[in-house]
Amino acid sequence: SEPENVGPAQAPIGETATPTGEPLVVLERVNKYFGSLHVLQDIDLSVARGEVVVVIGPSGSGKSTLCRAINRLEPIDSGRITVDGAELPEEGKELARLRAEVGMVFQQFNLFAHKSILENVTLGPIKVNGVRTAEAKDQAMALLERVGVANQAEKYPAQLSGGQQQRVAIARALAMQPKVMLFDEPTSALDPEMITEVLDVMTSLAREGMTMIVVTHEMGFARRAANRVVFMDDGQIVEESTPEEFFTKPRSSRAQDFLSKLL
Ligand code: ADP
Ligand code: MG
Repeated sequence: SEPENVGPAQAPIGETATPTGEPLVVLERVNKYFGSLHVLQDIDLSVARGEVVVVIGPSGSGKSTLCRAINRLEPIDSGRITVDGAELPEEGKELARLRAEVGMVFQQFNLFAHKSILENVTLGPIKVNGVRTAEAKDQAMALLERVGVANQAEKYPAQLSGGQQQRVAIARALAMQPKVMLFDEPTSALDPEMITEVLDVMTSLAREGMTMIVVTHEMGFARRAANRVVFMDDGQIVEESTPEEFFTKPRSSRAQDFLSKLL
């Protein structure tokens, strides 16, 4: 017989709470080196349940490393990272389960090329969360519907546009019922006409109360969806503010310089 779904009970999508102030993702004095390169320098960051934090900064400032550190794709050298109060273990089965609580969407869509769209979304819930196949399929179809690609379910990734593939990647991450979603430049590899369809899905997730950490150069999205903007440079968080403050009166010269180059 198939295993029962023993995963934690979760609010269905669309019923997530609005920001409560309760910290969900907490980084405390996190340091990371690549050889002599100090790529994360004493990073302190607390993201509340339901909060949308947009991380902005020049190339090489450590944004991707920060994302990867949060779900232990990248080990850290010192400090502490917790998700919903729990530190992720270094390895093992527990890591796979806890890692699933942090949904991740990358610049490159990373779909399984030899699996159908539907299988891409059902695989994790079945293998990692022990969801029964029929139930996993129902949930996957609902998610594919939500991101607007349900009619592509039987196709393979290469048959879809980049924008469609990225929306499948979002559905796949959501299928694991994550507590937080990390997006690392999710639209950077997309043709301009496909950027909006992905940002629209992300905006609706944000509205529905999903906790999100989003690395992006899409300033329109940041203005629209972020509760807070975090500006990184040289491995440090240089500035944190509301989007309104950040875009109209950045405090640091580094942020002023960065923003002036975007124009
Ligand atoms: P960002 O995402 O802001 O562009 P990254 O986190 O990718 O920045 O990289 C931060 C710095 O760390 C860069 O200088 C980059 O070259 C370096 N770096 C990233 N990954 C590695 C790695 N695996 N080994 C060595 N250096 C790396
Ligand atoms: Mg990056």
